[in-house]
Amino acid sequence: MQGGYEDLIIVGINQVGFKGRRSKEMDNQVQSRGQKELQEQVINAHLCVGCGACAYLCPYQVIYKDQTIVLHDCDLAEGRCYAFCPRTSTDYDAIRKALFDEEDLTLELGPIKGFYIVRAAGEVNRANAQHGGTVSALMALALEEGLIDAAIVAEGEDNFLHHGIAVTEPIDIKKRGKSKFIVSPTVAEFNKIAAGDAKKIGVVATPCQAQAFAKMRMKPIAGKESHIDKLQLVIGLFCGWALSWRKFTDLLRRSTSLESITGMDKPPGTQTVEIFTTNGTIILPVDDINTCIREACHYCIDSTAEFSDISVGSARLPESWEETKTWNQVIVRSERGQTLLELARSKNVLEFRDVPEGNFDELKKAAVEKKKGAIERLREKSGQPNDLIYLDENDPVIKKIMG
Ligand SMILES: Cc1cc2nc3c(=O)[nH]c(=O)nc-3n(C[C@H](O)[C@H](O)[C@H](O)COP(=O)(O)OP(=O)(O)OC[C@H]3O[C@@H](n4cnc5c(N)ncnc54)[C@H](O)[C@@H]3O)c2cc1C
Ligand code: SF4
Ligand code: SF4
Repeated sequence: MQGGYEDLIIVGINQVGFKGRRSKEMDNQVQSRGQKELQEQVINAHLCVGCGACAYLCPYQVIYKDQTIVLHDCDLAEGRCYAFCPRTSTDYDAIRKALFDEEDLTLELGPIKGFYIVRAAGEVNRANAQHGGTVSALMALALEEGLIDAAIVAEGEDNFLHHGIAVTEPIDIKKRGKSKFIVSPTVAEFNKIAAGDAKKIGVVATPCQAQAFAKMRMKPIAGKESHIDKLQLVIGLFCGWALSWRKFTDLLRRSTSLESITGMDKPPGTQTVEIFTTNGTIILPVDDINTCIREACHYCIDSTAEFSDISVGSARLPESWEETKTWNQVIVRSERGQTLLELARSKNVLEFRDVPEGNFDELKKAAVEKKKGAIERLREKSGQPNDLIYLDENDPVIKKIMG
């Protein structure tokens, strides 16, 4: 999509230029902090999203269950863990401008080159998918075409925990479709395999994980290797929230055994969540699920994985949910994303259909709502109207939404 930022403003959001600069104070903050500050400012403050960006960089931090655990103290004044964490102070405006075409930037949804409704072609390719199977189909295609030589996806475990796993065969991606609504520390798997033989890595990432990769791409600590240049593709997932492992599994155990669960979804426009089990579908009120949302997700402003090459979510169509859920909404954000989508079109890997009128505006509205809610909660948490903890209040997106 061409035309730039002005064309994409929604009603009620006026034009604003991307003029925010990284302040001196932020530079200092970003460049001179380590594990101690990560623990104080992120982990102890319940801002940790469990992305895994601070794990496998050194032996001192690990992910245990869905939590980040510090095993040993580290006295480095400047740590990659702090610099890569998506919840330490970050000038996201500088990152947007460095990684994406400035004319593609929008306030509500980040960079946009195009917006599509698509799904994996052929029912069989959607059989193990959450919705239209677009994520799995695109990542498998990237492997087949040699755009990447390893893909990191989320692997489910018996106890309802998940981890990132690197695979090299397209079939292994398709086997691992479906959404896991408890975090998977996918960035930790990148840290692990990027130090090895893989040369071109693709990752399926939630918005917060894509933010961590974007921070890594900025190479904030000179001379400290992160192998980030091996990252060749980020397919982002839209994300409303993720759930706390402990709270959610406690809730589920009241209705069924964890072993019987095969998946879950939240049909849009309803106040319910569907839990699919080997014995049928259990319907839970969304209010019960809301009590299980991971605390850090309440402070998250990104619903569409703005720092990805291509972002995918569930579609909103006039048809029944049964039909709608076999499609995806897709935002293409970068040249890499565009190339992959066009390849999928030319090889008939994806089916395309027209975007219904109003879809794009609805998505923008929902994205603004999430940003507003998170900003409000960050203000409450800090106790200061202009202190947004990890966000820069001078970021033009934040400023406009706060205004
Ligand atoms: C926690 C979470 C919240 C979400 N919230 C929304 C929402 O509010 N609105 C919306 O439109 N869409 C949301 N999604 C995205 C949606 O559920 C689908 O993933 C998306 O529509 C793509 O469907 P698909 O059929 O193309 O995916 P598939 O082809 O089934 O592929 C899904 C891919 O996601 C990977 N994956 C699954 N869980 C995770 C995880 N926790 N972390 C990292 N990777 C993972 C899988 O390994 C797989 O590669 C959410 C996803 C997650 C994981
Ligand atoms: S890098 Fe990710 S896992 Fe580590 S503290 Fe930050 S949010 Fe948590
Ligand atoms: S809501 Fe935000 S913080 Fe929570 S999992 Fe999704 S992207 Fe990460």
